[in-house]
Amino acid sequence: MPGGRNRYQRIYLSSLASIILLVVASLLVFDYVASEEASMAEINDLGSRQSMLSERIVHLLLEYSNEQNPEKRKDIVASISEYANSFEQTHKLLIRGTLPNGESVILEDNIDDLFFGEDEYLDEKARLFIYNTREVISRDWLPELISSYYLKELRIASDQTLHNGLNKLATLYSTNSKSRIYQLRLIIALLLGTVVLVVICIGIFVFKPLFNRIVEQQEELENLAYIDPLTNCHNRRSFLINANTEYERSHRNDLPFSVLFLDIDYLKTINDTFGHAMGDTVIVEITRYCKKRIRDIDIIGRIGGDEFGILLPECDLTRAKQTAERLRQGMSDNIIPGISDKIKVSTSIGVASILPSDTNAFDIINRADANLYEAKRNGRNLIISA
Ligand code: GH3
Ligand code: MG
Repeated sequence: MPGGRNRYQRIYLSSLASIILLVVASLLVFDYVASEEASMAEINDLGSRQSMLSERIVHLLLEYSNEQNPEKRKDIVASISEYANSFEQTHKLLIRGTLPNGESVILEDNIDDLFFGEDEYLDEKARLFIYNTREVISRDWLPELISSYYLKELRIASDQTLHNGLNKLATLYSTNSKSRIYQLRLIIALLLGTVVLVVICIGIFVFKPLFNRIVEQQEELENLAYIDPLTNCHNRRSFLINANTEYERSHRNDLPFSVLFLDIDYLKTINDTFGHAMGDTVIVEITRYCKKRIRDIDIIGRIGGDEFGILLPECDLTRAKQTAERLRQGMSDNIIPGISDKIKVSTSIGVASILPSDTNAFDIINRADANLYEAKRNGRNLIISA
């Protein structure tokens, strides 16, 4: 069945390939979700850090405005400047949706609106905050002056509007990422569901028929090893295995056991006269005839050509001879269905039964075979027993 085999191979390989593809796709989406989650966590951190930086800057500016010592004022200015630079850099990253490691984050419209929309305009607020901060520290203003205008502005910006905007930003990033991760998880669930479905389908539609086919082929192979293809009865090998088993059983349980050896008379002549096909028919019909007239526990096997063996467990010599006689008689009377009555069919039969001196099945088989030979020698269509 090369066509069938190729078909099964194709189905098997494509099923396997689809499972692999689905699993790889799931793994890729898994990986994407993991990196997306990491990026989102990082960008959320940046948003919160901005808030913290703005508070820190205002706090330092307050310190700056109250500090009289020039050295200390210088230190505070350095810190403020550093924080302001950091705030500015982070702001640029947030606007572009870029992480410090260069990775990009998808910016949704609501984040764009927050930065540049008329309502919030977080970009302008942040830039103004940086500008005002630098204004304060760029000149060595007197504390009284600082506390007036810029500081007031900066405090308002940091405490209220900027702070609110930055918080909103962190919330937006987090909601956006949650909904995107939810979608990705849905895709993963779908992919995994498909994998499970494909595996079940493969189990039902590929592996089950494959398994059944293998079992069938195994049975066919076993049949080939033990069954005679022409008559469908046991072949020589199987007959001998069964003969041994039956011998052992009878020997062990002290039960009678007999064997018939049967050979068709003049089959060669039948072949020559009516054709080889008719010879085959005679072999098949004689097997069928014998099978019908022996018990279920009896075993018939084709030993070779036109020679058959019949195992008769739990059957003594007298009953074995009766069975043999019944078969011989029936066949020579030409009552075998399926064979033309123009063909004269008879058989010679050798009968043997288990003896206390027997050591194995072959002792009985050899006696039955020798008796069959005698039956042939004595004119055929005969039974010889011992
Ligand atoms: P005998 O009475 O001595 O048994 O004569 P016979 O012609 O039957 O010859 P023998 O049993 O010695 O040989 C068996 C013959 O049966 C040889 C062969 O022509 C024929 N034969 C063996 N196997 C087959 C078979 O499978 N099909 C057919 N049609 N003939 C077979
Ligand atoms: Mg013969």
